[in-house]
Amino acid sequence: MKYIGAHVSAAGGVENAPKNAMEIGAKAFALFTKNQRQWKAAPLTPDSIKKFKEACQANGFLPQHILPHDSYLINLGHPDKEALEKSRDAFIDEMQRCEQLGLDRLNFHPGSHLNQVDLETCIKTIAESINIALDKTKGVIAVIENTAGQGTNVGHRFEELKTIINLVDDKTMVGVCIDTCHAFTAGYDLRTKEEFDVTFSQFNNVVGFSYLKGMHINDSKKELATRVDRHESIGKGYIGFSLFETLMNDPRFDNIPLILETPDDTIWKEEIALLYAMQK
Ligand SMILES: [Zn+2]
Ligand SMILES: [Zn+2]
Repeated sequence: MKYIGAHVSAAGGVENAPKNAMEIGAKAFALFTKNQRQWKAAPLTPDSIKKFKEACQANGFLPQHILPHDSYLINLGHPDKEALEKSRDAFIDEMQRCEQLGLDRLNFHPGSHLNQVDLETCIKTIAESINIALDKTKGVIAVIENTAGQGTNVGHRFEELKTIINLVDDKTMVGVCIDTCHAFTAGYDLRTKEEFDVTFSQFNNVVGFSYLKGMHINDSKKELATRVDRHESIGKGYIGFSLFETLMNDPRFDNIPLILETPDDTIWKEEIALLYAMQK
């Protein structure tokens, strides 16, 4: 079964996210558990945690279909020691928030080398950051998202994701989230069923489907291999409908959160209905 949703608003408290997901016909959702553009956030209150859990239960959302996303400020591969510490502390806080909410996975961007260290050093730092966070939390899988490879962002090649995984001590607590827009602009073609199959057999050979803990399903405003991260609504970008039709009919993408991060939230409901209608 497919679990489609969107990255919904948690304005007014995390407990509002399940309701926002319900209203667009979602069976899954993503959320920020704190303001994604600020370092510090007030702790989640017991009342908010309780209401979140109740709302999830009432609407049938299971933890494995919820994919929280961390703050954009965090860089787990930061070359500067002090800045790295700040990121690591913030990441541990995000992992703990997930733990408090009874969630089992946290999606994050691997990090950036900022042209101050080489890729290998940055990857080692990222893996160490993950190990530290996993040591300090329980039951929350660290889900690494592939990037478009914009700027100095690490993780646009499946090989880089695999290298990070290789350096993580507890392989049962690490996973990946593949963003279709990022994969496409990183150079992985997805426009036809044939290209889709090539890309995902490559993914399976390098990383392995057992690590796939979620997907971001976006079309792209930018062309193949441009390494620019600009999401587009389903079917309106350079990837096109074929990708989504293929994905909706491929059982390898069953039972994980498939999250829209498309730019026009007023059509999320239609996009979700459209995706479900693509199932044969
Ligand atoms: Zn994404
Ligand atoms: Zn993106």
